[in-house]
Amino acid sequence: MPGTNLTRDEAATRAALLDVTSYSIDLDLTTSETTFGSTTTIRFTCAEPGAETFADLVDATVHEITLNGRSVDPATAYADSRIALTDLAADNELVVRADCTFSRTGEGLHRFVDPADDRVYTYSQFEVPDARRVYTTFEQPDLKAPFTFTVTAPEHWKVVSNSPTPTPEPTGDGKAVWRFAPTQPLSTYVTAIVAGEYHEVLDTYEGKHGEIPLGHYCRQSLVEHLDVEELVKLTRQGFGFFEEAFDYPYPFGKYDQLYVPEYNMGAMENAGCVTLRDEYLPRSRQDRSFYEFRNEVILHEMAHMWFGDLVTMKWWDDLWLNESFAEWACYHAAVEATEFTESWTGFTNARKNWAYRQDQLPSTHPIAADNVDLRAVEVNFDGITYAKGASVLKQLVAWVGLDNFLQGIRGYFRDFEFSNSEFKDLLAALEKASGRDLESWAQEWLQTSGVNTLAAQFELAEDGTYSSFAVRQSAAADHPTLRRHRLGIGLYDAVDGRLVRRTSVETDIAGELTEVAELVGQRQPDLLLLNEGDLAYAKIRLDERSLATVVGGLATLDDSLARALCWGAAWDMTRDAEMSATDFVALVLSSVGSETDAFGVARIPGYAALAVTQYSAPENRAALRATWEQGLRKLLENAEAGSDHQLSFARAYAGAAHSEGALGDLERLLDGTLTFDGLAIDTDLRWTLLSALARNGRAEADRIAEELERDNTISGQEHAAAARAMRPTAEAKAEAWEIAMVRDDVPNETQRSVVLAFQQFGQDEVLAPYVEKYLTAADTMWEDKGTQRASTALEFIFPKQLASQELLDRVDAWLESSQANPAAKRYVREGRADVARALAAQAKDAQG
Ligand SMILES: [Zn+2]
Repeated sequence: MPGTNLTRDEAATRAALLDVTSYSIDLDLTTSETTFGSTTTIRFTCAEPGAETFADLVDATVHEITLNGRSVDPATAYADSRIALTDLAADNELVVRADCTFSRTGEGLHRFVDPADDRVYTYSQFEVPDARRVYTTFEQPDLKAPFTFTVTAPEHWKVVSNSPTPTPEPTGDGKAVWRFAPTQPLSTYVTAIVAGEYHEVLDTYEGKHGEIPLGHYCRQSLVEHLDVEELVKLTRQGFGFFEEAFDYPYPFGKYDQLYVPEYNMGAMENAGCVTLRDEYLPRSRQDRSFYEFRNEVILHEMAHMWFGDLVTMKWWDDLWLNESFAEWACYHAAVEATEFTESWTGFTNARKNWAYRQDQLPSTHPIAADNVDLRAVEVNFDGITYAKGASVLKQLVAWVGLDNFLQGIRGYFRDFEFSNSEFKDLLAALEKASGRDLESWAQEWLQTSGVNTLAAQFELAEDGTYSSFAVRQSAAADHPTLRRHRLGIGLYDAVDGRLVRRTSVETDIAGELTEVAELVGQRQPDLLLLNEGDLAYAKIRLDERSLATVVGGLATLDDSLARALCWGAAWDMTRDAEMSATDFVALVLSSVGSETDAFGVARIPGYAALAVTQYSAPENRAALRATWEQGLRKLLENAEAGSDHQLSFARAYAGAAHSEGALGDLERLLDGTLTFDGLAIDTDLRWTLLSALARNGRAEADRIAEELERDNTISGQEHAAAARAMRPTAEAKAEAWEIAMVRDDVPNETQRSVVLAFQQFGQDEVLAPYVEKYLTAADTMWEDKGTQRASTALEFIFPKQLASQELLDRVDAWLESSQANPAAKRYVREGRADVARALAAQAKDAQG
């Protein structure tokens, strides 16, 4: 039984047989609050008349199927999420009339009622295979066709799709019909319908290829937070950059960006109809990293209009390329065309750490994953696909040269416009443009797994100069590939209280040991920094002297990217049990106050918090917790009024607070008797403070309910659900467990909030029973709750806080015996790996 799966082979067979001429889709969103009418007409040709195939449709009630004028009985033809199509003609017309189901999980057509004003909003989310939850499809990216949408909705709604919005035609009963013009040929997964009581702001971009109408949309209750001037500015900067760099006019006529509620991801590149999570319209003060990231998301989706929507992967094997390209392009565009000129530093401080972490989990896989079916695609949509892929693509750009890279891309867009391609097609285009052979590069970087570690190996002469110098490369035993790296090496000395670069070299690294003759005779610097410029994708080690320099004075290093590499090295060494958690926390407390990179300020306190709660030795933990809490109090006090540092430290202090004094501070910040100049205790910060009190048993349900009355929004509801789940009582955990793991009526974003809040440090006693409950749930959750709910829950509710050998043994026994879905087992294995890592780090911290 295929269930909702589809294999690569099935898709290839169907693509060889069919050519889709057109889709006409008629949706009626006025029939009920739980379902909607969906009538699809697909015209397609068949290369072998008489052959059979199938169409896809999930979770629908099918009323009528007509194939070439012949009525087909749904009772026999529609089974297992497929409609069997037999005795095909050379030219075919399939008509399917059905009722489909509104989604509450963000998959398909999601329906949301805003608690702030009871207004109704819907939006579609189709990637990877969920268009078939809204209309009848051939659900695979390489059967492109023009789509004609017709939508019936309440007259006062806005309805937006891939084609420009037509004038609605009232039908006289409070409803209207929107008849959209046919689209360019599209893959099903980038089609879209967004309909509801949305607020609309229209504008235009005027560029070298003419005008592009722009639309921005959000819920009515968020209108005051829609900073549309800023969004239009960034959108214009993006189009200006990409139309020039790609030398190809924007292909989809108009460009709407819709900020939608309860969104599972960051955003989605529907052709001309981009959806983004509406948390990107901040209702409270946010730091610069928030805006920098939002800018990257906007540019990422825009880059997909060319790479992904205009030229589309044939099958999901090339999903990595789709995402890696959009990632690389968005950082490149941010630096070249927007005010966020140091975005590559943020990439190092945030995205690359994500890639390194993911690449060391047991679930790691080659960037070019072998996605044999949709199940495989779902589990491979991860940090390897996005962040490692982008790191490696950045390296490829350096390898072939930016100009050659862009020249190759331009030819590729023209050659494959409105059709599909494979990675080898891009590689051929880049080889042609650059004259370099890229086969072996692709083999080494895309078809193997794991991250290498690079460390300096040297001897010193009596005068303190290097008498020998080499870079040693190593790999994890499970993934032993050693690779070629382009590596910068920087030498920094302490001069008048600053760390100043004396010199740097760039060299190619290959194999286990690479001699660097240029450095022989150089005086040993105070800081030897491998991967200067961050060209390589590799973990780097600091030698003993360099580590001491970093611990003693990272803040005196002026270059933000060099600092990001030092932060990354120290964090990797801590995670790998080569630097103690205690030392890492000391480094953060001494240097994060003068960090200038937005992502550095925002993220690094989080790494330190993890070091305190998971990587510290049990015997050191109480003291380290106190040091961290009090250190943050000082950082908060000393931060410049109104600065991002102040906001970041206030949040981190709330997260660390556990002493009477600190909890009292949180109370007084909430009631206004304690203030810090420039720190507004706004809605989101109030929830941060209240959640911290709840976690420490200082805020009960009535107090949380009171706060929810002040903030009766969907965000307020999610924060309240999380705060309730954080409370350290058996009752609170039982209630939270129901929401996170059992109930089916909980919307996706609320479930996620509760899942993330469930496991809390210092609540071992009430959390202990949830080891067995977790493993029991993992046995069947994938089938019972579906991809979205199961993946969220199994990843984040794993009992990491209870790290012990006993836990490892129990999980091993479960992995041995459970018949759970491999996707579910993946998350259990990852949780286990995190626990094993924590135990090793704890042992290191115990040695001091
Ligand atoms: Zn993307």
